[in-house]
Amino acid sequence: MNDYRIIATWSFGKIAVEVAAPLLQKGKPALDAALAGAQAVEDDPKVNSVGYGGIPNSVGVVSLDACVMDGKTLSCGAVGCLENIKHAAAVARLVMEKTPHIMLVGQGAQAFALQHGFPLESLVTPESIAEWEKNRPKKGKTAGHDTVTVLARDQSGTLGGVCTTSGLSYKLPGRVGDSPLIGSGLYVDDEAGAAGATGVGEEIIRAGGAGLVVEFMRQGKTPQEACETMIRKVNRLAARRGVHPARVSFLAMDKRGRVGGACSKGGKFVYAFGEPGKIELITAPEIEAL
Ligand code: ASP
Repeated sequence: MNDYRIIATWSFGKIAVEVAAPLLQKGKPALDAALAGAQAVEDDPKVNSVGYGGIPNSVGVVSLDACVMDGKTLSCGAVGCLENIKHAAAVARLVMEKTPHIMLVGQGAQAFALQHGFPLESLVTPESIAEWEKNRPKKGKTAGHDTVTVLARDQSGTLGGVCTTSGLSYKLPGRVGDSPLIGSGLYVDDEAGAAGATGVGEEIIRAGGAGLVVEFMRQGKTPQEACETMIRKVNRLAARRGVHPARVSFLAMDKRGRVGGACSKGGKFVYAFGEPGKIELITAPEIEAL
């Protein structure tokens, strides 16, 4: 039997870890625990970049991206541009379980959610609309953005991951970031490890995403080394394109349950960590440009 481990992006990742850790302690599967944790963040109106209360897109609509992946079977599911459905990650899991597909987007994703009993609801709060109103003059620019990515290893040693976000605030309608893309915002393989991303999705996608971080672990790097290698790669690409520094962060867990995280300069990335008897926030190193 293995000790469980769990990590989740940002300080609000602690909400996810606090919900998921007792489930892992009880022997629940990694994906179930990670999903329950991520859903607690989706439900929290104070977290303004995930689920309910997420900052709307440029036309005032909250549009959610999410995905899930199981490290044992490599089963995965995703939704993009999902509107008026709060639990995007749970819908992604149903895409994985009930369809032969991996990803549903937009109206199709919403219809699928409705068919499976998810309620249609408004995802804006008075605070998120006020924030949106205040920043409307900066149309075309993005402001706040974050994602909750939860990576867990259960007592059987299986890894599971969940990623869910409202994406870049004020994004163009129809924009999809890295978060729902398997291999970009999230990748999980029991034979190597699990990794997730947060930050400017366009830069994460361009650099090859979380799947590369998992491949670095497969080649023998520790999770910490894998994340730092990936940040250097993103930085190099950003420098080449003159958009340096790209604001991205990665976190990772290997099959042994070792964890790591890193961000680009100025990223101020923290992640929540949980193991039996301990839950804490870890500050990730900021990796110099080159
Ligand atoms: N990666 C997310 C996106 O681009 C945003 C974030 O995590 O900050 O949609």
